[in-house]
Amino acid sequence: MNIDFVHKLKEHITEGVVLEHEPMGRHTTFQVGGPADLFVEPGSREELRYVVEEARQAQVPFFVVGNGSNLLVSDDGFRGMILHIGKKLSHISSRGTVIEADAGVSLSRIAREAFDKSLTGMEFAAGIPGSLGGAVVMNAGAYGSEMKDVLTEVDVLTGQGRFMTISAKDLDLSYRHSCVEEKGYIVLGARMCLCRGDQHLIRDRMNELALARRQKQPLAYPSAGSTFKRPEGHFAGRLIQDAGLKGYTVGGAQVSEKHSGFVINRGGAEADEIAFLIRQVQKKVYRQSGVKLEPEVRFIGF
Ligand SMILES: Cc1cc2nc3c(=O)[nH]c(=O)nc-3n(C[C@H](O)[C@H](O)[C@H](O)COP(=O)(O)OP(=O)(O)OC[C@H]3O[C@@H](n4cnc5c(N)ncnc54)[C@H](O)[C@@H]3O)c2cc1C
Repeated sequence: MNIDFVHKLKEHITEGVVLEHEPMGRHTTFQVGGPADLFVEPGSREELRYVVEEARQAQVPFFVVGNGSNLLVSDDGFRGMILHIGKKLSHISSRGTVIEADAGVSLSRIAREAFDKSLTGMEFAAGIPGSLGGAVVMNAGAYGSEMKDVLTEVDVLTGQGRFMTISAKDLDLSYRHSCVEEKGYIVLGARMCLCRGDQHLIRDRMNELALARRQKQPLAYPSAGSTFKRPEGHFAGRLIQDAGLKGYTVGGAQVSEKHSGFVINRGGAEADEIAFLIRQVQKKVYRQSGVKLEPEVRFIGF
C-alpha cells in the first residue's frame, strides 16, 4: 500500500475512520474474510469524494462495501482499499409520502420510518440486512416486491468525481441487478415514494414476513442470504435439494439443512471452504438438472 496515500487520508479524514489491515470478517454477515490493506469509512459525502479522488491519483484499487450482507471476502483479504458506506452516512428524513435516506441507512431502519409515518411499500425490506446503497445496487427484493417499486431518485458520486441525481428509471433495475457498478457510480442516498397506509396493516405484514423468514431461513447461522440467483423457471433451493446436496458440508461451510438455497457458516468456516462448496454445488446441480446456478453473492479478493 502506498504510504503517502495512507498518510494523506489519515490527515484529511477527520469525521470518518481510516484503518489498516482491518479483518473483513468483522464487516460481512458470513463473518469470514481476511484483512483489507486499508479500510476507510468516510464521514461525509465530501470526504468520500476526497478519498475516491486520492485513490484514483495514487492508483489504489478500491471496492465499496455497505453492510457486507451479500459478500464473500477471500481469506487473504483485499489488496487495496475497502470503502465502507456505513453509519456515518446515515441520515434519514421523510416528507409526505417520500422517504429520503443516505446510502448507509439500513433497510430495516427505512422500513421502521415508513411504519412510524403510516406509509406502506417498504414492508418487504424490513428483514433484509443490507444498507440502502447495497439494496439499490442489488435491486434487493423479497416476497413479491423490490427496490425498483419504490425508488424514485438516487444520488451518486460518478467516476469523474461529480455529485449527480439520477432517476431510478435510468438505473436499469431488474432482478438483483442495476447498472450502478457498470457505470462506476457510488450510491450516496436515495428517495423512495410510498403510499399512505393503515399502520396496523403495515405492522401485521411486517410481522407476517418476519415470521416467514424465521420459519424458513437459517437465521441462527452467519450467511449472505440466498447464495444463488433464482434461475428462470426454477428455485435454486429445490434444484440443490434434488441434487442431494441438502446438508452438504465442506469444513465449516454447509448447504443449510433448513433452506438449501442458503450456504451457511456453521462456525469457523474459511472463505475458501465456502467458495469451494459453492462451486461444487454449481457443478453437481448442472450435472443433475442442466441448470447453471449463478451466485447472487459477490466474491471479493479471490
Ligand atoms: C439473512 C439474510 C437474508 C437476506 N435476504 C435477502 C432478501 O430477502 N432479498 C434480497 O434481495 N437480499 C437478501 N439478502 C442479501 C443482502 O442483504 C442484499 O443483497 C443487500 O441489498 C446487500 O446490501 P449491503 O449493504 O449488505 O451490500 P454489500 O453486501 O455490502 O454489497 C453488495 C454490492 O453492492 C455494492 N455496494 C454496496 N453499497 C454501495 C454503495 N453505497 N455504492 C455503490 N455500490 C455499493 C458492493 O460493492 C457490492 O457489489 C439477505 C442476506 C442475508 C444475510
